[in-house]
Parts: sequence; C-alpha cells; structure tokens
Amino acid sequence: MPSSHETESPAPVRNREDIDPRGRSRDRSWPPAPDPLPFPVIDNHCHLDFADGERSLSIDDHVAHAAAAGIDGQITIGSDLEAVRWTAALLASDACPPSLRGGVAVHPNEAALHARGTDHDGAALIGLGAAIAEVSELLRGPGMVVVGETGLDWFRTSRTDEQARAAQIESFRAHIALAKELDLPLQIHDRDAHRDVLEVLEADGAPERTVFHCFSGDAEFARTCVDRGWFLSFAGTVTFKNAADLRAALTEVGLGRVMVETDAPFLTPVPYRGRPNSSYLIPLTMATIAEVTDTSLEEACRVVRATTEQVYGWPETVRA
Ligand SMILES: [Zn+2]
Repeated sequence: MPSSHETESPAPVRNREDIDPRGRSRDRSWPPAPDPLPFPVIDNHCHLDFADGERSLSIDDHVAHAAAAGIDGQITIGSDLEAVRWTAALLASDACPPSLRGGVAVHPNEAALHARGTDHDGAALIGLGAAIAEVSELLRGPGMVVVGETGLDWFRTSRTDEQARAAQIESFRAHIALAKELDLPLQIHDRDAHRDVLEVLEADGAPERTVFHCFSGDAEFARTCVDRGWFLSFAGTVTFKNAADLRAALTEVGLGRVMVETDAPFLTPVPYRGRPNSSYLIPLTMATIAEVTDTSLEEACRVVRATTEQVYGWPETVRA
C-alpha cells in the first residue's frame, strides 16, 4: 500500500461491544473483499476509533484493505469526547496515513449526557458547553475537514425527555454556528427527527455544505433536502431488504447530490448484515447506488467522487 509514514498508526481505542452489547452473539468474522471499484471513491463517514471483528484490524489495515477495493480516502468521525480526542491525536500524528481526514462533534445522544452531567454508567462528565468548546478547539487542528456528527436523535434519546431534547437542540445549533465560523461542511445525524432537524436548519440557516450522514428519509424528505442544496450520504442501509423507502429516495433525487459512506463498524451492507464493517465493503453499497440510479458502476463512482471532493475540498492529497 502506498504510504509515506514510517511509524505505526495508533490502535482503535474501544470495542464495538462497549456500546453494542448485542454484538457478542453475532458473527464477528470479516466479510470477504468484494471486487474493487472501477473508479476510486471516498468513504466520507466511518469510525476508526472502534475495534470490531474476531481479528482486530489496525488503522493501517483498514486503509490498505480500502485502497485495494478502490476506496482511496476515508473521513473518520469522533463522536464522543474520548473519540474526539483520539481522532484529533491520530490526525496530528506522524503515523496518520495520508489518505485519512477527520471530523469531530458532540453526538446528539452525548449532548444529552453532557447536559445531565453523567454517562451511562453514572460517571461524571464535563458540561455541554465545555465539551463543545473542546470540539471547537480541536476542529482547528490538522486534518479536520468536517464538523460532525451533530443533529437530533429521537430514537435513543426520548422525545419526551425535555432536558435531553433541549440539550440536543442547543448542541446542534452550536455546531451549525461552528461550521459557519470555520467554513467547514456539517454532517448531520438525523434519527427519527426529520421535521425537527429541518426546523432548526431553517431557523438558524444551514451551512453552505450540509450533509445528511446515513440518510434515512423517504423520497419526499430527500427532495426537500436536495431542493435546499444539501447533500445525502448513503450507507449500507440502502442495500437492506426492508429499505425500499431509501431506494425510492435515491430514485427520486438521482446521483447529483449523493455521497457514500460506511458508518463502519456499523451498518454492514447486504449480504453481510451484522458482521463487522470497514471501508473495503463500500463496493457493495456503490453497486446498489448505481443500480437504483440506473447508472453504470464506473459512472456512479465518478459522480459520487466529484461530489465528495466538492463538499470536503479534499482531493489533492488523496489522488496523484
Ligand atoms: Zn456515525
């Protein structure tokens, strides 16, 4: 694998099972590598801080496997304070692979915990304002290309928990302001919250480059987003059998404002649902994107890549 760094990159900091206890009983073997893409794309959202799989992969392994499958760049997202610090340290390290960039934010569910002052185990957490201040500081460091993931999550945080709800909205608004201040794109986490996400974006004014990470809306919501000039990033979920709505959304808007991601180690595409995920599996998701938009795989890759370069302003160090 082409690489200019000499020391070994840092290892992941936590296990997927730490936040996904169901994972213990699943098949933890790595899926086989699919055929490589005919034209390289970038995985614009993954979590390299998570270890997964019966055999743990290093950052360099993830990057090498991705490159062999035609994924020549990855954006790793740090979404709780530990991951935020880890991501910033990785990007600042001499051992960081040159094809990696990153983004950090306080995830909406984390925002609720910081506002409460304790994590899931009852351990003390710094306040929400302090957490966002640290994110703001670290976003100014090397390799940061996006503010995210932020937004609203009414799935894991109850819609009826007023304090948690207010904390998520406050945090979302602070990250919107940060993206504008730093002139960076914004990656939105929107889980069961389309209408409220839209309302906050309209009220505060969306950053120029606004991305719905792991897009989860239907055709009508996709149209609403694209009409406002926003971008939709599709994950392995678009390959799921029960995701007809997502494919209808993609059919509705076409390829023009679409990107691809893994959200690895989560959301492994069909036929490997439940097994560990890594950027090298993107060809499976790209195949579905091409098929649904009635485009050749190569053309779909070219369009998606051009959009990704436009959004993140980051092609130059990835491709010769
Ligand atoms: Zn994610």
